[in-house]
Amino acid sequence: MCGIVGYIGNDNGIEVVFNGLVRLEYRGYDSVGIGFKENGKIKTIKSVGRIQKSDVAPGMPNLEEKLKEDGKFKFSSHIVIGHTRWATHGAPNERNAHPHVSMSGRFAIVHNGIIENYYTLKKELESKGYKFASETDSEVIAHLIDYFYDSDFLEAVKKTLTKLNGAYSFLVISQKDDVLIGTKKGSPLCVGIGDNEIIISSDEMPFVDRTKKVIYLSDNELVVAQFNGKYDVKSFEGINIEKEIKEVPYDIEAITKGGYKHFMLKEIHEQSMTVKNTFISRVDHIDTMLRDNFPNLPRNINRVIYLGCGTSLYAGMVGMYITERYAHVPSRAEYASEFIYRDPVIFRNDVCIAVSQSGETADTKEALRIVKGKGAYISGIVNTVGSQIARLAGRGMYLHAGPEIGVASTKAFTSQIIAINLFNMLLIDNNSYKQEMINEMKKLPMKIGEVFDTEDYIKDITPEIAKYKSFLYLGRDINYPVALEGALKMKEIAYIHAEGYSSGEMKHGPIALVDENMLSVFIITGEKKIYQKTLNNLIEIKARKGNVLVITDNVGEVKKYLDNDDYVVRVPCTIPQLSPIINIIPLQLLAYYVADYLGREIDKPRNLAKSVTVE
Ligand code: GLU
Repeated sequence: MCGIVGYIGNDNGIEVVFNGLVRLEYRGYDSVGIGFKENGKIKTIKSVGRIQKSDVAPGMPNLEEKLKEDGKFKFSSHIVIGHTRWATHGAPNERNAHPHVSMSGRFAIVHNGIIENYYTLKKELESKGYKFASETDSEVIAHLIDYFYDSDFLEAVKKTLTKLNGAYSFLVISQKDDVLIGTKKGSPLCVGIGDNEIIISSDEMPFVDRTKKVIYLSDNELVVAQFNGKYDVKSFEGINIEKEIKEVPYDIEAITKGGYKHFMLKEIHEQSMTVKNTFISRVDHIDTMLRDNFPNLPRNINRVIYLGCGTSLYAGMVGMYITERYAHVPSRAEYASEFIYRDPVIFRNDVCIAVSQSGETADTKEALRIVKGKGAYISGIVNTVGSQIARLAGRGMYLHAGPEIGVASTKAFTSQIIAINLFNMLLIDNNSYKQEMINEMKKLPMKIGEVFDTEDYIKDITPEIAKYKSFLYLGRDINYPVALEGALKMKEIAYIHAEGYSSGEMKHGPIALVDENMLSVFIITGEKKIYQKTLNNLIEIKARKGNVLVITDNVGEVKKYLDNDDYVVRVPCTIPQLSPIINIIPLQLLAYYVADYLGREIDKPRNLAKSVTVE
């Protein structure tokens, strides 16, 4: 996700903010910008691509080149804001990059998050004569502050806050006032208290070399920072709040990749937040979503066809189970690479959904082009805003999961399953179904947190697990795709042969493989009629002296059939439609720790590319 950083103090804030943005790079971004006061005016400098010149090929855009001359900063300012953007509304380009300046030029903001009601606010502001320079949701903040400004900067910000819905943190500077204001609701923001200076940013990294004194803002709080290191923290209503000053618990050396050893581990850990980002702005507005994300969805849907490759295809398979069982619409999930060579039979009221993290997957794009040509209803479930599949589909849902940098997909998978569930809620005319889904989705971030209670156990058993020469992952029904995905993770990053199988199929062949060199990894969760059958398959493996590792929400029952040297990972219970999200996380961790133990190149495994743009 993006990062924001702001400075007020006696040094050159441009340099402080620039270095701060470099440290926030690990969060991922597609464009970058900086805003500051110079000769009584607010100036902005933006760039697509990277922050540092050394990170791009000669001639490619970067912020550094625009800010420096002969290796020195060309500008100097004592009140500065900066932003690394991960586009959610509007393509990643210079026009949409932050900071956004109010039409009058009086205020500039950098924003992290999503303003859910931006469309209504934009229309209101336009009717009052405000002209928008970007396609972002964020720009409404700058114009609203301007609209409410009546000689009191803080008052204008407070009034603006009463209008905003969504998850956000933002920083704002004013042409006239020598203060830096920061505020948050949903997205992170902290305040570094330095020697006669204040730095406000998404995390502590931008200031950890200047000060270790930090205040962590809570939701619905704002900070007004002045020169000489003075600051006030207030509620949105303006009441002063006494905040505890804490000490940053690490040094500058610890902060590559946000303190994680690999991007993949960081992305696995982000999932409580990323799944929430996928549903939070949508779950209470399902009917609007139908109009906005899936306009003109056919009334009598013939079939829902999910098209994808690799992990995205497995998310589509989860979708197939949901669509058939709960929406009662025929459904299938297709390997895009097979589909495109089959001259598939497609009908006009088939709904085809391309699922892709990057939005650039060549096979999936081609499959979408084919079904579009045959007149089907097409849409996309994509993470990367403005990507080719998103553009070709023209409608659908973005995941809002933030950039996924580790080659092996993790957080995109769990967000894809959220998006697919949201889509299916549009097909299911049953309020109690929707209410239960909404309630369960809202509990997910907490339950994902509980899954991480098992991380130490998984780490501890890694040396034993890494000895196996092959793995058979077994799941049934909606968790069969989870078995496929778990096995894929192990292959991709640990380079150990692993196969995903539907557990019912196991006795039709793979059971012949059971020996001391193979570990069977079972997913046994959910409804009794399903888990009971999978448990029977486990008993069949145990009868042949196979070793097993079980992911289960029913430890008591499963343990009856296990030996002491078998492995059990407890996961929290949820509804079947969301269980793949919970169940895949220990399998991601298992693959990660085995790969790390074996010294593999986890973020860039051999022979693999992050987005497969060739057929
Ligand atoms: N929603 C804003 C945009 O698309 C901010 C995205 C971010 O957090 O980087 O510009």
